[in-house]
Amino acid sequence: MWVDTHCHLDAAEFAADRDAVVARARAAGVVLQVIPAVEAANFDAVREIAQRHGLAYALGIHPLYVGRAADEDLERLAEELRRRRDDPRLVAVGEIGLDLFVAGLDLERQRRFYLAQLALARDAGLPVILHVRRSADLLLHGLRRVEVAGGIAHAFNGSDAQAAQFAALGLRL
Ligand SMILES: [Zn+2]
Repeated sequence: MWVDTHCHLDAAEFAADRDAVVARARAAGVVLQVIPAVEAANFDAVREIAQRHGLAYALGIHPLYVGRAADEDLERLAEELRRRRDDPRLVAVGEIGLDLFVAGLDLERQRRFYLAQLALARDAGLPVILHVRRSADLLLHGLRRVEVAGGIAHAFNGSDAQAAQFAALGLRL
């Protein structure tokens, strides 16, 4: 029995055969897939796909989308988390995090969105789905400041020491 904690099933690449993708995952023993949002514009899409296919979803603003997000999108996220608080398919805040790999991103803006979304996750009592790319130490710093209900450090490729620190804070890799 498997749970896929991170699957962008709403992406356009799946438009033609999304049903078949979900069916193949089920046949392979994947009992649940979690569909993380990447920006306010796809909050509805991930929820609707999760409902249609009996899957789960997360709501958040991805670090690579922070540049084009509006400040008000954080308020939109807060509202949506409140509105869906009794939806059992909403299982996390994500995908959030920091990306220090892609050149030219505004790190201060990424950090502001990351910390604000950690606080929303904490207030909602939800775990987080973290995007980690050359950013493990900065992500850990945030997790120590804002205590959340665990979560997943996605695509983690840091050191053993960093892995142990994520684990100590309740994160799975
Ligand atoms: Zn992702």
